[in-house]
Amino acid sequence: NAIDYDKVDEHTKFLIFPISVIGCGKTTTSQTLTNLFPETWGHIQNDDITGKDKSQLIKKSLELLAKQEMKCVIVDRNNHQFRERKQLFEWLDELKEDYLAYDTNIKVIGISFAPYDKLSKIRDITMQRVIKRGNNHQSIKLDELGEKKVIGIMSGFLKRYQPLNIDKSPDNMFDLMIELDFNEIDSSLTNVKQILNEIHRAYPILMPEIPTDDKIDEAFRKSLEYKPTVRKI
Ligand code: GDP
Ligand code: MG
Repeated sequence: NAIDYDKVDEHTKFLIFPISVIGCGKTTTSQTLTNLFPETWGHIQNDDITGKDKSQLIKKSLELLAKQEMKCVIVDRNNHQFRERKQLFEWLDELKEDYLAYDTNIKVIGISFAPYDKLSKIRDITMQRVIKRGNNHQSIKLDELGEKKVIGIMSGFLKRYQPLNIDKSPDNMFDLMIELDFNEIDSSLTNVKQILNEIHRAYPILMPEIPTDDKIDEAFRKSLEYKPTVRKI
């Protein structure tokens, strides 16, 4: 029997791939979402992967997604270039059956964090934020690198950035694309609200009810206190 991959039911599992540059709030947004749904949503960060095997990012994500109660895993990496987005889809194709039953239906949701027309504002705000984040990151440690190097790393990402192009591969491979705006104030809180709304609309089976504003606020405040547990280099 052919598998109907378009069908979404209670057995469907979800992966989220961000498209972003450094400091847009991927980790804060992901933490807020997993604070809201601690049993059914998971979060794997590329910044926590220290070994040589880069595909550990998707292996760990699939391993987590394979748990019975797990419904949605956020694969937290910038994926600022087409090549990286393509690589995630290829890894998924290649490795899926090592972790999940062959007939498991997986939907891939994209989240675009950095609208191209706001890039100069994004540059200003993310640089301020990352300087303020200081040493509170797995590899970008302000005291060790210094402000100039940190700005240099971030500028590299901005320069190489290939924003979402929904008309061509690999960006036309997403099952759902959420295009975030970039707000100066508490962008991650606004992001989470938009993500919840759009997932609720597209996949009510994953998000039958949107949490209350109070619950979202609480989860967001907690996410601002997030401290990494891994040190990378
Ligand atoms: P990432 O590089 O995309 O994962 O960005 P992070 O989630 O690490 O965010 C960069 C810094 O900005 C962190 O210190 C966050 O605490 C902070 N940050 C992210 N989103 C918000 C927000 O909505 N409001 C405030 N006040 N700070 C934020
Ligand atoms: Mg991060």
